[in-house]
Amino acid sequence: MSSCVIVWFRKDLRVHDHQPLIRAAKSGRPVLGVYIFDPEEYQETAYGFPKTDRHRAQFIRESVDDLRNNLSDIGVPLLVRYEDPVDTFTSIQEEVDIESVFLHEEIGSEEQRVEERVRGSLPDTTFTVDHGRNLYHPDDLPFDIHDLPDTFSQFRKRIEKNNTMVRPSLTPPKDVQGASLSLDYGECPSLSALGLKELDREPRYRGGSSNAKERLLDYIFHKDRLKHYKETRNGMLKEDDSSKFSPWLAHGCLSAKVVYEQILKYEQESVKNRSTYMLYFELLWRDYFHLVHRKHGNRIFFPSGLRDQDVPWNDNQEHAVAWREGRTGYPLVDAAMRELKETGFTSNRARQNVASFFTKNLGLDWREGAAWFESQLVDHDVASNYGNWLYIAGVGNDAVQFRAFNVEKQAQDYDPEGAYLRHWLPELRDVPVPWIFKPREMGMVEQEQFGVMLGEDYPLPIVDLLSAMQERKAVFLEAMNK
Ligand SMILES: Cc1cc2nc3c(=O)[nH]c(=O)nc-3n(C[C@H](O)[C@H](O)[C@H](O)COP(=O)(O)OP(=O)(O)OC[C@H]3O[C@@H](n4cnc5c(N)ncnc54)[C@H](O)[C@@H]3O)c2cc1C
Repeated sequence: MSSCVIVWFRKDLRVHDHQPLIRAAKSGRPVLGVYIFDPEEYQETAYGFPKTDRHRAQFIRESVDDLRNNLSDIGVPLLVRYEDPVDTFTSIQEEVDIESVFLHEEIGSEEQRVEERVRGSLPDTTFTVDHGRNLYHPDDLPFDIHDLPDTFSQFRKRIEKNNTMVRPSLTPPKDVQGASLSLDYGECPSLSALGLKELDREPRYRGGSSNAKERLLDYIFHKDRLKHYKETRNGMLKEDDSSKFSPWLAHGCLSAKVVYEQILKYEQESVKNRSTYMLYFELLWRDYFHLVHRKHGNRIFFPSGLRDQDVPWNDNQEHAVAWREGRTGYPLVDAAMRELKETGFTSNRARQNVASFFTKNLGLDWREGAAWFESQLVDHDVASNYGNWLYIAGVGNDAVQFRAFNVEKQAQDYDPEGAYLRHWLPELRDVPVPWIFKPREMGMVEQEQFGVMLGEDYPLPIVDLLSAMQERKAVFLEAMNK
């Protein structure tokens, strides 16, 4: 029986900066790439919506097709399956001896369980795992993972004080000896085969590392947006307000180290300022949440998060559905939630506000909010999503005990003309400032004048913002100080 080595792609859908691919190419054995759509990832959650909905599924499909093209350019075929990963490896092993599997590390327990099962089914195969997801290699950190600082700020200071180096990115191998199998190499399953609805609009972000590179160069160099990132990054409406690198970073179409190198290049060629530092700073947040996940494991999914005290969360499905559908009566929350459902994306500012509203005004269990984000987000990343939710729910790495966003004030501060609100809430398109921030205060005269009937065209608030927040604050602080 002939033999081969496999590069198992998961959330690293690229050929650049890919140590497992380089190792496979150097092994001297024929190389086969494998990507598996695991049915577990496309199940319905306990909350009754898909774990991976159509926006992310489509992005992954495009990324896998792009990966196949890029691998083909260097001589490596990609086998694609939609089945239990153990079945995929078993069927390959029936045809060719799998000497080695090279892969990037995944810290999520679900991914690790799948990996364990595959290892168990291939007892004579060696598995070589590399780290490739972050700016900093875990071995280069100036502390042991168990001593990871409890706040981001302490973490950042340790990294900067120590002058921790980012390892250089790796160039892809050339002219690799690809495996040749008689198996069908397979195609990506369609959205309907994955049990999902077809998209009813063009995807907002297109998957694949070719598109990632285009966005990277466009944002930093061609459009010269990095220069003003610090001033624009809190904007919610315009595509270039922030980098929008997250969908590609989340699926590994783009390596964080490559982004970092482009920031340095820009600093050398153009300007080094607070904005260029700020983009690095955000990538550092990403590293931090990944390390929090590495340190705390499945605790990041506990209702009490990283704290020892249990907070009693409300269970009100009417409120949860109103939040998901963008029908709370609070325009910033509704605009962001509709944007998320329609496109699979919403800005960081909007995410912070809707998560704060969910946990600090509605008092709902943060895990349900996080699960909805996981379902919808095109850039979903377990550590970043659950880490941010924990933080905002007050059971993560925030030193402040109870911090709540005032969603009406935030809309005025970050969308002073109401343009973002009107864009996603067409029923409010003729409502001017200041009513657009508080439609609930419009009397009959204004409702008629601006063509919107409260309770009919646009909902009345589902809770009173301030009293609901005060109530939650009392419950939260009592639980925390027990
Ligand atoms: C409740 C909540 C859930 C979130 N869930 C996710 C998620 O599933 N996946 C995800 O990638 N980001 C998540 N974020 C972080 C952040 O909102 C997005 O990374 C950001 O909006 C993506 O837009 P951008 O690429 O234009 O970001 P930019 O502002 O341009 O930042 C550059 C990159 O830095 C990283 N980054 C920035 N802010 C954060 C942050 N707070 N935490 C972690 N990484 C960050 C991202 O990789 C981002 O692409 C979440 C934030 C909140 C408040």
